[in-house]
Amino acid sequence: MTEPFKLGIVVPCYNEEEVLPETSKELTRIISNLVNEHKITNNSKIVFVDDGSKDKTWPIIDEFSKQNDFVSGVKLSRNFGHQGALLAGVTSASNSCDAVVTIDADLQDDVNAIPKMVDEFIAGSEVVYGVRNNRDTDSAFKRDTAEAFYKFMGWLGVKIVPDSADFRLMSKRACKVLLSYQETNLFLRGIVPMVGFKSSKVFYARKERFAGTSKYPLRKMLKFAMDGITSFSIVPIKMIMGLGFFIVLITIGLLIYTLIQKAQGNVVTGWSSMMISIWALGGVQLICISVIGEYVGKIFSEVKRRPRFTIERDIYTEKTIKEEK
Ligand code: UDP
Ligand code: MG
Repeated sequence: MTEPFKLGIVVPCYNEEEVLPETSKELTRIISNLVNEHKITNNSKIVFVDDGSKDKTWPIIDEFSKQNDFVSGVKLSRNFGHQGALLAGVTSASNSCDAVVTIDADLQDDVNAIPKMVDEFIAGSEVVYGVRNNRDTDSAFKRDTAEAFYKFMGWLGVKIVPDSADFRLMSKRACKVLLSYQETNLFLRGIVPMVGFKSSKVFYARKERFAGTSKYPLRKMLKFAMDGITSFSIVPIKMIMGLGFFIVLITIGLLIYTLIQKAQGNVVTGWSSMMISIWALGGVQLICISVIGEYVGKIFSEVKRRPRFTIERDIYTEKTIKEEK
């Protein structure tokens, strides 16, 4: 039998006061079971990351961490977004944990998949993806847009494990490699497969949100998708070039058509074709400039190297230091 290892479970939380008590209870149950099975050490921790919540999320985390040895938390100084919160939690946890699981706070991902991930880790996998085998509980709109998005990403040549979100286990070493990717525009789903190492998958059924509402409105979803595409692929820029050539071809065709018309004496014609070309070209140019602008914007935010998150308080590290004394 292998030695028990220290497990960290990172849970990003943004205005999650309604689900936290249940999430904490469920994860504590999972951790206690794993401790009893001598798979993980009894100083393993849940790390709730408060991503600048406006409700009672942090007071609840603070309170739970006093009552429950398994619970700890990291408080960010403001809202940094789901991906930033995940990274903050992984940064703290991977300092002393041998493996880190990341899971959403709303219990949509099945906590019972965590023991399976732990088994895969013990068997030698360094990255274990949680893959959902149904999306019945997501709205048809969310399901269709997500599916189209993943297809598009695949077509652009970005490797993403289909139907996997941010529910996964990573070894300490894999976490360190992940943290060495310094980009500000975070799209972890695209970065994790680039980390490499031995990986495996654990399947689970995705459930309804336990309580509260989605913290990903359409606006955030679109931004996330755009980040995913423009951080990983320059195909859109290349497509513009193709479009340019296509338009030049059409122009040549139009030119020939106009000359023929002129030869036949139809000289007054041309007003409509001219207006159409002006509008069509204007539109195409604006779209092209905006795509390039998107990339220039990316460069702009990347070169500034701004911090991706700022920690205000880190109960995880406080507890770890205390326990090591
Ligand atoms: N979340 C976060 N910061 C944000 C938005 C969301 O930490 O700015 C967390 C949220 O608390 C949840 C997870 O990210 O634990 C996923 O969000 P949600 O469940 O609302 O997204 P959905 O499942 O609807 O895509
Ligand atoms: Mg959710």
